[in-house]
Amino acid sequence: MARIRRGIAKSAADRLIVLRDHLHSVPRQEDCQCLRSVCIGYVLRHFLGFVVCRYCGLLCDLLSHLDNLALGWRAALECLPNGLTHDGRDRRKRENLVSFANGDPVRDVAISAGKIAAVAPNITAGAADTVDARGKIVAPGLIDIHTHAGRSKEGPPMCLQDGVTGWVDAGSGGADNMDEVAAVARGAPQIGRCLINIARTGVAPGELQDLTRANVDLARGAIARNRDVVIGVKARMSNNVAGANDLEALRRAQAAADSLPVMIHVGQNYSPLRSYLSLLKRGDIVTHIHAPAPNGLLDDKGKLIPEVMQARRRGILFDFGNGVTDHFDWATVEAATKQDFWPDTFSTDWSTMSRTTGVVDMPNVMSKLLMFGMPLSAAIAAGTVNAARIFPAFDDRGTLNVGAPADVAILELREGEFEFVDNYKGTRKGKQRLFPIATVLGGKKTPARA
Ligand SMILES: [Zn+2]
Repeated sequence: MARIRRGIAKSAADRLIVLRDHLHSVPRQEDCQCLRSVCIGYVLRHFLGFVVCRYCGLLCDLLSHLDNLALGWRAALECLPNGLTHDGRDRRKRENLVSFANGDPVRDVAISAGKIAAVAPNITAGAADTVDARGKIVAPGLIDIHTHAGRSKEGPPMCLQDGVTGWVDAGSGGADNMDEVAAVARGAPQIGRCLINIARTGVAPGELQDLTRANVDLARGAIARNRDVVIGVKARMSNNVAGANDLEALRRAQAAADSLPVMIHVGQNYSPLRSYLSLLKRGDIVTHIHAPAPNGLLDDKGKLIPEVMQARRRGILFDFGNGVTDHFDWATVEAATKQDFWPDTFSTDWSTMSRTTGVVDMPNVMSKLLMFGMPLSAAIAAGTVNAARIFPAFDDRGTLNVGAPADVAILELREGEFEFVDNYKGTRKGKQRLFPIATVLGGKKTPARA
């Protein structure tokens, strides 16, 4: 018989702040008028309770009761006004719904058998382990959709310490070396997936200057061999990678992808951005969206080109893609955000060297738009649920809904003066920065970052 004992006593002042409705963009659900797939994030000022009990019978009874409480609460959330849309203006309106009202209830998160078992106030079941997350943000595990974590087996455990419980390697491997990258993905502690580079070499200096490298049949063969981990195709469009081959390379990427998503890397393009957008289908992704001119998302007068919003309304996703060189500058971020254009997803373009560059880690990258007025809840959504919903492989991730895998990023939002760096050594000072504190993967705590 299980002994149910009380978890850590909490002080009356401890309170959970619910980040309501922080989902702001749902790929493939543009017309959806319900919040069926809403992800709920929490600022937990109380604690994260692990309820791990080997005596399932009793525990199940208890948890189903707790689950009902949580479901009732979610049902209430679903009554919020909505209107999922890819339009920036409407989205801002939705973001205003995010409430930090004092009346929000305390919630604990219980984990059992590697899944979120309950989200409820005062979970009192016997906890085999308890993580004290008072004053921290308890977010779904972060999903980074543009990394190069597949380059070596050392990568995935490193970014796991940053809260990244799911990653996509974006184009490190092409047909010639996909098998090696796929092997790293299969051996990673967290879920790792790959976009195959349409260039058979993978990322290499000017990999598409020679168009024969964009070999559709070879790419298809490598996808077929690695169907379990290859979930899309990557094509780098910038002038120094593809030059005048850009559009044909993108057509070939689409041919190889068939119905899988294609991610394009843009920046200092040979062709105008609109010409790429016209070759993208719903669910495709543009990364490095804040790359400065020429041929970026702003026209000569600094105005957002209309094709960008048109593409968003068609279900094309826009990803931050921090990177190191020529991928974003503050002026472009400022101009775009002033026009209410915000990224759907954050990504780092991560490598094992990122801690020594302006990337640092995923939470640092997510912090960069806070100083431009992105609500915290939207930033967390962009690093979790929005990313997860792009690829079916991440269904059930990026969320703390009951029943989902217990992948959790515990972050701390510190207040102070923090310096952030763009890709041109430009610095901006922000007053808030997210730091990774701890990661839970499939219900298991992972070692803290050294
Ligand atoms: Zn990259």
